[in-house]
Amino acid sequence: MTALPLVFDAPKRAIPPRHLADLDPADRRAAVGELGLPSFRADQLARHYFGRLTADLDTMTDLPAGVRDTLRTLLPPLVTPVLEQACDGGATRKTLWKGHDGTRAESVLMGYPDRATVCVSSQAGCGMACPFCATGQGGLQRNLSTAEIVDQVRQAAAAARDGALGSPARLSNVVFMGMGEPLANYKRVVAALRRITEPAPDGLGISARGVTVSTVGLVPAIDKLAAEGLPVTLAVSLHTPDDELRDTLVPVNNRWKVSEVLAAARRYAQATGRRVSIEYALIRDVNDQPWRADLLGTLLRQQIGTKRVHVNLIPLNPTPGSEWDASPRRVQDEFVARVQAAGIACTVRDTRGREIAAACGQLAASEA
Ligand code: SAH
Repeated sequence: MTALPLVFDAPKRAIPPRHLADLDPADRRAAVGELGLPSFRADQLARHYFGRLTADLDTMTDLPAGVRDTLRTLLPPLVTPVLEQACDGGATRKTLWKGHDGTRAESVLMGYPDRATVCVSSQAGCGMACPFCATGQGGLQRNLSTAEIVDQVRQAAAAARDGALGSPARLSNVVFMGMGEPLANYKRVVAALRRITEPAPDGLGISARGVTVSTVGLVPAIDKLAAEGLPVTLAVSLHTPDDELRDTLVPVNNRWKVSEVLAAARRYAQATGRRVSIEYALIRDVNDQPWRADLLGTLLRQQIGTKRVHVNLIPLNPTPGSEWDASPRRVQDEFVARVQAAGIACTVRDTRGREIAAACGQLAASEA
């Protein structure tokens, strides 16, 4: 992969201390060895963390007290909830959490009849500066570590299991659609994907098919991800099919144009066999015109193919201080119909979490 331009580098902030979830199985055993313990202690600890979803050493009673004290250094508290809010009758729960250095980020757990999904953050803030997104307005604070990402999932899985959504549920889906641009934090995100999808005790055992990585379209990183052998779903935030408007809606378009992004999406679909998802936040009088729907359908059909792509329309969630709003229902309906007429599957995202500012693009890590 060519080096990403400097603008994607996070400012130097305190890197979180090393955590079990940063490590692959071999490094985990090595780390336990450095602490003077036999390597089977690493497997025991991993079974608690990834299998039982607990980071509370006091409950790990199969470990002698002295061993627990030694292992404590591998489980520093990295993701500490400071505020929890629920809406949609308890089926949507947002967690504002702080990192070891006080950095704030957010995760959202959502229950559905057939699945439970957590939306995680990959960075504190975001450097992509999309003007309709709340996170984009505050800039990037820092990259999250692998363990900070994994621990959001671990805590969500434990909460779902323990009935946070009403009745006990298994966490089946993870979407990288919280704060941040996951492919601008590439190495840590890919390590997190491995921890999330590997079966316990090496990882959380969530099927890669249930994991979605959403990106503004960092082309070299999309190609790199396609070669990782991780069949996660790729979502591309397109938001308009023409470069002129996309240059302002998704500023990274000035670096990689619509045609380059769609070509990368096609290569991803070919390499992984996974259908890619095109995200399109529908904004009244900005990108919701019938001609844009037609152009979108035509481009996707020609550049990716009807079987390899589907469009996910997101009614815009207004963010504070913005004049932009969602499109009227009949405009949205016509947009969907026109994309479908081109032979492209098109669905409208539900608007979970609006009242607690937990909907798409609303995560802004407000202070508790
Ligand atoms: N950086 C990644 C993840 C961002 S959040 C990306 O851009 O894909 C996931 C989706 O929510 C993206 O498609 C993003 O463009 C969209 N989004 C951001 N702000 C929004 C808003 N106010 N209303 C609706 N969708 C929004």
